[in-house]
Amino acid sequence: MGLCEFRPPQSIGSGHAMGYRAGLEFTMMEKSVRGEFSAAGRSFPPYGTGNNHNTWYAATMVDARGVEIPYLDRDGNVLKTVSERYYPALGQKFFLKGGVIDEAKYEYRGPETMGVDELMKQGYQLPFYADLSRMPEMERRVIWGMMVGEEAKTRIPVLESYTERGFDPKKHALQSYGTGWQSAGFLDNERQLFGAPGGVFHDWNLKTNIDGIYAAGDQLYASDCCSFASATGYYAGRKAADYADTVSQLPPSRGDIDSEAYRLYAPMYNPEGMHWKELNMAISKAMQNYCGGIKCASLLREGLDLLNSYERDCVPRLSCNNPHDLMRTHEVLDILDVSRLILNACLLRESSSKPLCFERSDFPKRDPERDNHFITIRKEGDRIIRLDVPHNYYGDVEAGYLEYNHTAEGGSK
Ligand SMILES: Cc1cc2nc3c(=O)[nH]c(=O)nc-3n(C[C@H](O)[C@H](O)[C@H](O)COP(=O)(O)OP(=O)(O)OC[C@H]3O[C@@H](n4cnc5c(N)ncnc54)[C@H](O)[C@@H]3O)c2cc1C
Repeated sequence: MGLCEFRPPQSIGSGHAMGYRAGLEFTMMEKSVRGEFSAAGRSFPPYGTGNNHNTWYAATMVDARGVEIPYLDRDGNVLKTVSERYYPALGQKFFLKGGVIDEAKYEYRGPETMGVDELMKQGYQLPFYADLSRMPEMERRVIWGMMVGEEAKTRIPVLESYTERGFDPKKHALQSYGTGWQSAGFLDNERQLFGAPGGVFHDWNLKTNIDGIYAAGDQLYASDCCSFASATGYYAGRKAADYADTVSQLPPSRGDIDSEAYRLYAPMYNPEGMHWKELNMAISKAMQNYCGGIKCASLLREGLDLLNSYERDCVPRLSCNNPHDLMRTHEVLDILDVSRLILNACLLRESSSKPLCFERSDFPKRDPERDNHFITIRKEGDRIIRLDVPHNYYGDVEAGYLEYNHTAEGGSK
């Protein structure tokens, strides 16, 4: 949403776009968070700056004077060794880090560096740096070499480029930007879909509102990373297979195939015109300007008008001359549809909401009782259809799981 570089370019929301075009129902698409990791124009590549989160957990951090920043356990006790940063506190079963649990409950809270406010009070000086040279060799190599190098797009822009230009984690520290550990100090209008974002609405079978279409993983609303994707993928696959046994296969429609082929190849027939990068940047700018941290109906409508004008005036002019650019062109068309889905979803919620990180200047009241429910959105032709669904529509979780978690043959896995 305005920024796309945190995710690899093959992961840009095509499933959301396909689903929206097909009439699938979505929810929570009004939720977005201020950029944290993305590479907006002003920012460094994700994982390319010194920090101690996620991939870089639990790097040794120092301040501008080279004084080490203490790690504390959940009770505020200073940890004395690097290895203690990887263990739960005494009596704690496990701790959680990353994803949507940046602010884990006390029960699951893990070791963390002292908060920035406290650091400033105690005279620690910006900028901070990650200093892997002070870590045991194996920990250093896990962060710089295994995690940075194998995760997302880190191999070429970060590991290879920095190494070629002389960065040596045994000798050099890497700077942090912003006041925390992000790759930049982001603006409120630079937003991303992260931290249990919106997605496809579904029932206990992970079935969507369209018979025969099941969804899993990042596609679902409030999804949360790999374990969620694997568990729901397995489950939705079983349910889809059961459904497939109950219906017969339709013959493919020649007309549909021809019109789809025409749509997909159209940019190849334009000898010159607009490149996908230009449209990609224009959509990004439109979302930053019209769907930023604070939203209101007139801004959102202007944003929609602008994106519709891109569809009318720019899309027919898109041009490319090789399969790679054709693929990127279609990804940008998907971004265009997902952006319109987001703008429409934002228009539907006429209040602000803390859990959805959603602020409307024309409806500043936060989480009023009348809006304390999911709002779903789907498209029927050009019409936007809304439904209000109670938060507890799925009933008791344990009872539901026992009732639905089995195959048609009665087995459960
Ligand atoms: C940089 C980064 C770091 C992350 N770190 C962690 C982490 O530390 N821990 C964690 O648990 N999770 C992490 N995640 C999240 C995790 O990777 C995702 O939640 C998970 O991969 C989602 O799985 P999925 O199968 O739903 O979707 P994806 O893995 O996105 O799979 C979707 C697939 O569909 C393919 N596809 C798209 N369009 C089409 C089409 N038209 N036809 C055919 N195929 C298509 C895509 O190429 C892709 O392979 C991270 C994600 C990113 C981007």
